[in-house]
Amino acid sequence: MATFLRGVTMSLAVAMLLVGLSSCCVAAEDSGLPWKIGLARKDITPQQPIWLAGYASRNKPSEGVLAPLYATALAIEDSQGNRGVLITADVIGFRKEVAEAAARAIMEKTGLAREQILFNWSHTHTGPVIGLSRPAGYSMGEEDQKVVETYTRGLIAQYADLAAEAIADLKPARLAWGVGVVHFPMNRREFTETGVRLGVNPRGYADRSVPVLKITDEKDQLRAVLFGCACHNTTLTGQHYVISGDYAGFAKAFIEEKLPGVMALFMIGCGGDANPYPRGEIEHAKQHGQELGTEVCRVVGEKLSPVSGPLKTALAEVELPLLPPPDREKLESMAKGPSHLSETAKRMIETLQRGESPPSHYKAPIAVWQFGNDLTLVAISGEVVSDFVPLIENEIGHVRLWIAGYCNEVFGYLPSAKVIREGGYETRGVGTLGFFAPEAEKVVVETVRKLSEQVGRPPLP
Ligand SMILES: [Zn+2]
Repeated sequence: MATFLRGVTMSLAVAMLLVGLSSCCVAAEDSGLPWKIGLARKDITPQQPIWLAGYASRNKPSEGVLAPLYATALAIEDSQGNRGVLITADVIGFRKEVAEAAARAIMEKTGLAREQILFNWSHTHTGPVIGLSRPAGYSMGEEDQKVVETYTRGLIAQYADLAAEAIADLKPARLAWGVGVVHFPMNRREFTETGVRLGVNPRGYADRSVPVLKITDEKDQLRAVLFGCACHNTTLTGQHYVISGDYAGFAKAFIEEKLPGVMALFMIGCGGDANPYPRGEIEHAKQHGQELGTEVCRVVGEKLSPVSGPLKTALAEVELPLLPPPDREKLESMAKGPSHLSETAKRMIETLQRGESPPSHYKAPIAVWQFGNDLTLVAISGEVVSDFVPLIENEIGHVRLWIAGYCNEVFGYLPSAKVIREGGYETRGVGTLGFFAPEAEKVVVETVRKLSEQVGRPPLP
């Protein structure tokens, strides 16, 4: 099944393992409609106090629930029986260990191949910490850590059930898509005399597009809507201890209230360097959710572009280059410096003290799903910064394109070469393994192009 793309391996000096293209399974019976769609949803709201993810400043577990968290599965089957399952969830994201365990559980339960499975996480910062081993960056004790592990194991089992339930629910459907816009995503890389800090940068780029996939049934009734927004779910800051899905959770609730009987699914885009604006209050999160939900409902009511099959899915594990470790003196000073650099610097010093070398690359998944000639879904792992949107548009064309970040695995930030050059929070490193080299950008963009060709995205006009 595995094939090496030799040209890529040689020219980029990276090992790129093509995990595979989805293959034809059982042919769907002829319904006259181009697709079958299956849906499943589970309430994944933690049932006991649990540490909330995303802010190191928190010092205690959650206190109550403002809004429930959900995980949702969308199974897609074309008329030839090619399948894919997308699972989205109101949590911070899965690191490699958890993502691989969830994918394995789904493959065992459903027989799907890895490239037929796509994960996306809303990256809510008022959702639980996720982890099977001690999560770095939180000051929780052993008991609280056990709560996180138990929750995570339960969530992995729910992922497998969700995939199976969505497949069991496959029914004839039509797909159509369009794009709207919202105005609350704000570039957060604020330039100051002393460097880039986390703040607001109104002149900075943010992807404010709102891609929308409309799913209708045999009777042309709206059944579900999948929508995106390229912005951190961080309206609620580290002072908040109450569970919610932030703006994305409120947007889904808004849509489902306006469109009774319809399931809303959220997929986050390349918002690694975008925060909601304004932020800090529950009211702000509700406002952003309402703005996004209103725009999704407006787009759904427009004349959208039909999306036909076949579905082709591809996934590659690419070796993204890391910077060589700085010399010892520099590392020591970084270890005493700002917290976004110190954790990684300390880990690198420990590695060197053991007489080992820090890794030279980080292996990250990148996926592309192609829907006929009508739509390409690019799914990049990590907290992808917004610069990747124009970079990918330039590489494979602007049209019929949906670009998602936070897909399949979240290892930390994926900065562009420009962000690495400028510095700032998003250069903080891959977990605590090392810092991305500027060349990582090229590997990502070229991999997206190769995979797009592989799945048959029509070439640039
Ligand atoms: Zn983040």
